[in-house]
Amino acid sequence: MCSDHAPAVEIPAVNGTNGVTNGRRQPKLPYQQHHSDERSNTGRFQIIESTLREGEQFANAFYDTETKIKIATALSDFGVEYIELTSPVASPQSRADCEAICKLGLKAKILTHVRCTMEDAKVAVATGVDGVDVVIGTSQILRDHSHHKSMAEITETAIEVVKWIKSQGVEVRFSSEDSFRSNIVDLLSLYQAVDKAGCDRVGVADTVGVATPRQVYKLVRTLRDVVSCDIETHFHNDTMCAVANAHAALEAGATHVDTSVLGIGERNGITPLGGLLARMIVESPDYVKSRYKLAKLKEIEDLVADVVQVNVPFNNPITGYSAFSHKAGIHSKAILAKPETYEILNPSDWGVKRWIHFSSRLTGWNAIKSRAGQLGLIITDEQAKLLTQKIKAMADVRPLAIDDTDSIIRSFCLEHQPEDQPDQ
Ligand SMILES: [Zn+2]
Repeated sequence: MCSDHAPAVEIPAVNGTNGVTNGRRQPKLPYQQHHSDERSNTGRFQIIESTLREGEQFANAFYDTETKIKIATALSDFGVEYIELTSPVASPQSRADCEAICKLGLKAKILTHVRCTMEDAKVAVATGVDGVDVVIGTSQILRDHSHHKSMAEITETAIEVVKWIKSQGVEVRFSSEDSFRSNIVDLLSLYQAVDKAGCDRVGVADTVGVATPRQVYKLVRTLRDVVSCDIETHFHNDTMCAVANAHAALEAGATHVDTSVLGIGERNGITPLGGLLARMIVESPDYVKSRYKLAKLKEIEDLVADVVQVNVPFNNPITGYSAFSHKAGIHSKAILAKPETYEILNPSDWGVKRWIHFSSRLTGWNAIKSRAGQLGLIITDEQAKLLTQKIKAMADVRPLAIDDTDSIIRSFCLEHQPEDQPDQ
């Protein structure tokens, strides 16, 4: 396990740009950055933060005006490029809140999300937003059971709405709903029509969480060749593919990703802000660090968790209870020597701490020696090994709390104190 040992399997270096050596395709190294595809936007994406729209559709969510302002301000300070708000048509208070947030003068652009109708578009533009996101269902099941419109009718209305919003000097995005259960030919013709009408972004939405990364890549890649405007993407997390799908979309040429804090939204939500950034910092560290105040992520997640009355999950990327905890002796030893051995994310980038779990039967003597050092007790390697055996023996019988292990370490050090060392 030592770092100076040669790897058991040698991985040949990739030759040239296409990864082909002597006529055989060579495997790419894991975590290798690959921005060679000019359509990939993994190093230049923008975030449309929808905690105040999609997130309001979360079961527990109720935001009063003050809370909305607090969340919007925190997200703008964090560095997200856009903040999306609930439709002003939803209720009189939703409209008043939308107007109030537009007047704050935040750095992030403010969007609102409405149905693709002239009536909704007019109310949205009147609130003072920077952009309007319009949406309509395009899958057969939604057309049959939701709005009963044909594709020809949808296209006609979409063109009219897009042109009118643009004429008001406001940004506009047109999105289909349930894109991955829609007819691909219908979908591409519709996107092409709104692109020609002057749309700033077209939106691809996996409203039901059915898509896989491969399907996302294929659709977005095809769409990239059909429209010249930006491409926004929206992924639900029903089958836990929301982060992977967002990443695949960016690789295929999408430009914008919808997120919400902790992923809150309809059902079990969408791509979480923290999860997306965890994924993207591995690939594009300079870009992510330069745009977002990562050390504020925990504060924003705690704020939203408190508002919607949930706990941050233990396995949440970055901020979860165990996101940077190391327990097995082999892991702890390597982490103490060089954190990159078992961490691809650096906790200090996010203002959080790593934790070496030393209070179990899986512990190793390096972790115990390090803990003794934290307690101000100096022990030799041989003593640490002996002490670790005692701790493992105890931990085989019952779970040990940190205090229990600290007591064992302290009494061991008292017993093994050199005679000339003064009492502490
Ligand atoms: Zn959604």
